[in-house]
Amino acid sequence: MSDENGFMKALKCRECGREYPLEAKHVCEFDFGPLEVAYDYDRIRSVLTRDQIAARPHSMWRYRELLPVAQEPTAGCEVGFTPLIKADRLAKRLGIRELWVKNDTVNYPTLSFKDRVVSVALSRSRELGFKTVACASTGNLANSVAANAASAGLDAYVFIPADLEQGKVVNSLVYRPQVIGIHGHYDEVNRLCAEIAGKYGWAFVNVNMRPYYAEGSKSMGFEIVEQLEWQVPQHTVIPMASGSLLTKIHKSYQELSKLGLVDASGWRIHGAQATGCSPISSAQKSGLDFFKPVKPDTIAKSLAIGTPADGFYALRVMKDSQGSAEDVSDDEIREGIRLLAECEGIFAETAGGVTVGVVKKLIASGKIPAEDSAVLCVTGHGLKTLDAVQGHVGKIREIKPSLREFESVIAEDGKIAH
Ligand SMILES: *Cc1c(COP(=O)(O)O)cnc(C)c1O
Ligand SMILES: [Zn+2]
Repeated sequence: MSDENGFMKALKCRECGREYPLEAKHVCEFDFGPLEVAYDYDRIRSVLTRDQIAARPHSMWRYRELLPVAQEPTAGCEVGFTPLIKADRLAKRLGIRELWVKNDTVNYPTLSFKDRVVSVALSRSRELGFKTVACASTGNLANSVAANAASAGLDAYVFIPADLEQGKVVNSLVYRPQVIGIHGHYDEVNRLCAEIAGKYGWAFVNVNMRPYYAEGSKSMGFEIVEQLEWQVPQHTVIPMASGSLLTKIHKSYQELSKLGLVDASGWRIHGAQATGCSPISSAQKSGLDFFKPVKPDTIAKSLAIGTPADGFYALRVMKDSQGSAEDVSDDEIREGIRLLAECEGIFAETAGGVTVGVVKKLIASGKIPAEDSAVLCVTGHGLKTLDAVQGHVGKIREIKPSLREFESVIAEDGKIAH
């Protein structure tokens, strides 16, 4: 048995099926199709059991056989296994029988789901001998690459749109990577990074390392299933930027099913976007197989990708699973953030507001039936996008340090001291 590549077999083109060695490479030379990691499922089936997974440490690496590293991970070893919360109060407000929140606002170490993809990308970059890592980011990826590279002792370059939220900028700078702010949208950042990646010998986590990076998102789906005691949820609602997370959660359910670790069929995958950047949800709602690129204009900057790399595949997953897509306005995003906070005590960033706003619409329209059960993927922490809600969450009531003043406030509320 050769363990040189762990349980990986090759990189494989999603379009023509041609295979490539397991290097830092992301497109097929013949048709420019995206490359994906292929695994030896027969071997995985013969070694992986539910009991074995259950006995391992609480991190995303408990599903290591299904993640694209050859050896034990060397970056982000503590990432994942975030809480799955039964959201009864939110369920009642939205009018659905059962609702769960997969809470990646508390992912380690940088409070978003991006720690999952980065731990895989950096571990694999190391295996391939890279010393410098880089990324093109809408914010959270920059934070995660900066932090995880610092703790792994790798040099990092992060590229972001120059007009990002201050919280996201500071949360990158503090780890001391090189931060390059580009005057332009994410799509322009990404195009520049593709050029740089070709010229410098760096591991760009979401460019030349993308086949490995993207697989890290599957861990969110594996965890949801294990935390539901090995059930695949009827409905999963997922925010979409490039559309990668959505396709990979679907893949995680398919893999568990293929390996006989769950007995499931008929799950539905739903996608969420902001109306101000909704190329995928607009296409889905019009019944199209292809999206039209857009110019983003939304407070949900972490989802502001106008030309989503996996948009085509995300549309296919929603179609195949009979799911739907929806999008919400900036005001509905803020309302979603407040609703999740006041019902469940979870403060999500704008992407979380998008997901809550969208599930509300899907329940109201009957696309998620009221008698069903759904899981919401909440992917980033609200402390990083304070700008988006500042001025929209009420005001503090100021008084002098006197009991009399306090009691006049209390009297306004109709409360009586005992
Ligand atoms: C990156 C990101 C997503 C989704 O990303 P995909 O490109 O669709 O995989 C969702 N939520 C947050 C907070 C993100 O940072
Ligand atoms: Zn190909």
